[in-house]
Order: sequence, then structure tokens, then C-alpha cells
Amino acid sequence: MRLILVGPPGAGKGTQAAGLVDRYGITHLSTGDMLRAAVKEGTELGKQADEFMKKGHLVPDEVVIGMVLERIQKDDCAKGFLLDGFPRTRPQAEALDVALADAGADLDAVVLIEVADELIEERITGRRSDPDTGEIYHISFNPPPADVADRVVQRKDDTAEACRARLDKYHSETAPIVPFYEAKGILKRVDGVGSPSEVGERIATVLA
Ligand code: AMP
Repeated sequence: MRLILVGPPGAGKGTQAAGLVDRYGITHLSTGDMLRAAVKEGTELGKQADEFMKKGHLVPDEVVIGMVLERIQKDDCAKGFLLDGFPRTRPQAEALDVALADAGADLDAVVLIEVADELIEERITGRRSDPDTGEIYHISFNPPPADVADRVVQRKDDTAEACRARLDKYHSETAPIVPFYEAKGILKRVDGVGSPSEVGERIATVLA
């Protein structure tokens, strides 16, 4: 199974990805997580990515495409993968398409989680994560338990300002990949408003 999750920042891609990789026994590839790990480790790639990420800008295509195409060749991707946060531009979608065709592989589905702009800022600015487990919470909708609350952290790009920049980029750069996959007949639209389990059920239905 090879899947892509697309949606605006804060649509719930990370949350839904966790359930999907469990269900299908596939590898979760979040480009955001991969880039944040590179920044933390201080690698050359991390240094290149950091300035773009802090401002809510996209990391240049050539950096991200190279990172992903290398990663999907690893053994743990042979059983399938879920791409979360990639592709985010039309050139990224085209590069992935060429690489998969060269490898004789196909995508099974591209799931688009739809959430209106008005709901995004509240979801993003209230988001917190547990640095020890990676668990994602929201200060109002899904507060962390008392023993975790003291250690949760906010992503550097989850401020209101960076959120607006990321939403603008989503509309200008990422939305054009939707007709690309629609034309291939593999796009599945899912309403992203509701509890994580409600949205998860909708995804399971479109993938059945
Ligand atoms: P995410 O965790 O998916 O919200 O990604 C966090 C940030 O990482 C984004 O705002 C971008 O700066 C960068 N990023 C992640 N994936 C990509 C991608 N496919 N192309 C360019 N930049 C990316």
C-alpha cells in the first residue's frame, strides 16, 4: 500500500497517519518530522532547512525531493509507505511520479483532508506535543494529561504569524497538486472536521 496524505497545516495529517500506518503495516514518512530531526541533529540538510521552516516557508524542492526519493528506497518502504507532508508542490508530485514509474510502482490513493481556513489557526496555535513520546495534543480540544502537561512543547512554526504564512503557501503551492492526482483518478476527499476517530472512519471508508 502506498498512500499520500494531503491537507492544510493543522488538518490532522499527523494524527491520522498514526492510525493508518498501524492499520496497513506501512512506514510513516513525514517530511516535517524528517526535517525537524535534521535541524535538531544540526546536519547540513537541517541547516539549509531551518530558516525556511521557522518562517513557515517551504524548504526548496531540490532539498526535499532528494531526501524523500532516497528514503523511499530503504528496505522498510518495500512493504509500502504513507507520505505525510509530501508532495507539497507540483514539481515534488511530478518527481515522485517519475521515481515511482521508474521503480515500476504505483500509488494506491491520495487522501485529501479538507478543513476550512477559518478553523485552521485555532487548531494550529493550540497544538502541543510531548517531546518524549511524540504524542500530539491541543490545549482546548485534546488537553494533555496532568503528568504530561508540564513538558509539552509548541512547534516553532505553530505561531499565528507562521500559521498564516503556511496557509498561504498551502493555497499557492500545494493546492495545485490536487488536480494532478484527481486527473489520475486516485484522489479521495475526506471532511476533516470532527473528532480524530470520526475523521479516521471516513478515511477507512474511502480506502475500503
Ligand atoms: P509539517 O510538519 O508537515 O507541517 O512541516 C513543517 C515544515 O517543514 C513546513 O512548514 C515546511 O517548512 C517544511 N516541509 C515539510 N515538508 C515539506 C515539503 N514537502 N516541501 C517543502 N517544505 C516542507
